Amino acid sequence: AGTSGPVEWDGTGRTSDGHRVKVLGNVGSAADAHAAVDAGAEGVGLFRTEFCYLDAPAEPSVAEQRAAYTAVLEPFRGKPVIVRTLDAGADKPLAFLSPEDEPNPALGVRGLRVAFDRPEVLDRQLEAIAGAAADSGAEVSVMAPMVATAAEAAWFAGRVRAAGIARAGVMIEIPAAALSAAEILAEVDFVSVGTNDLAQYTFAADRQLGAVATLNDPWQPALLRLLGLIGDAAKATGKPAGVCGEAAADPLLARVLTGLGLTSLSMNAAAVRAVGASLAEVTVEQCRAAATAALAAGDGASARKAARGA
Ligand code: PEP
Ligand code: MG
Repeated sequence: AGTSGPVEWDGTGRTSDGHRVKVLGNVGSAADAHAAVDAGAEGVGLFRTEFCYLDAPAEPSVAEQRAAYTAVLEPFRGKPVIVRTLDAGADKPLAFLSPEDEPNPALGVRGLRVAFDRPEVLDRQLEAIAGAAADSGAEVSVMAPMVATAAEAAWFAGRVRAAGIARAGVMIEIPAAALSAAEILAEVDFVSVGTNDLAQYTFAADRQLGAVATLNDPWQPALLRLLGLIGDAAKATGKPAGVCGEAAADPLLARVLTGLGLTSLSMNAAAVRAVGASLAEVTVEQCRAAATAALAAGDGASARKAARGA
């Protein structure tokens, strides 16, 4: 299905029979935000705030953060934007946050774990995000990276609500979180799957290492099964579950993710139109058939082939 030429995308993410899947942009700067708007993104599914501070020697003040975030949010006045709190550590160390001398930083104190030791840094960031939401007029939600359990999700949501931000979510990037998706969704308003890290942790394969890239393929059926559990939890709870890892940028995989029950897809600006057009060419039933075919495959390459033929 859907092998005819590219269709013009009308800017609203949905299958040909009207099943809605928001097509959103991943951004890390004001330039990215403008590129996402120009590409037709319906909003932002992942604002990587740590990208603003990769070279910062010290924690930026609340006022500095508020101005930086406002510049990224402004192009999305009246539109949904998910701001991710600082994901420091492993492949993205921040001088003012990341612990030194960890034997295995990808399994260490990274993402939300940093905030358990230093909640005041999180609270200052949340204050800045609330200010930027007011200044920009964007419909802001906040989510945490690297959440492992429902208790962590509840802790984070409590701090977000205390900061006066209405919508709190978490990323699912750790297999334990995928297996607890329903319990996590009971604590927060939405989840978003980081397939880059979820693949890395599921296959015990460093996302930065070319030698293990075949394992790190988001088409691997074991990863698709975890994504299916998250889609099922979204359906059971009636809450949104998006994907914001690189997997969402693959037009064919976007159909499979839709068939698995994921409710929004967020990607780099360059992929927005192709993903929107790919969804518009097929029905949701065809997406489900593609998902079923991919799940039954033996490896990533055959899953891709099976989805194409479904
Ligand atoms: C991911 O892990 O898939 C993700 C979206 O977050 P990041 O790539 O920033 O770790
Ligand atoms: Mg990640």
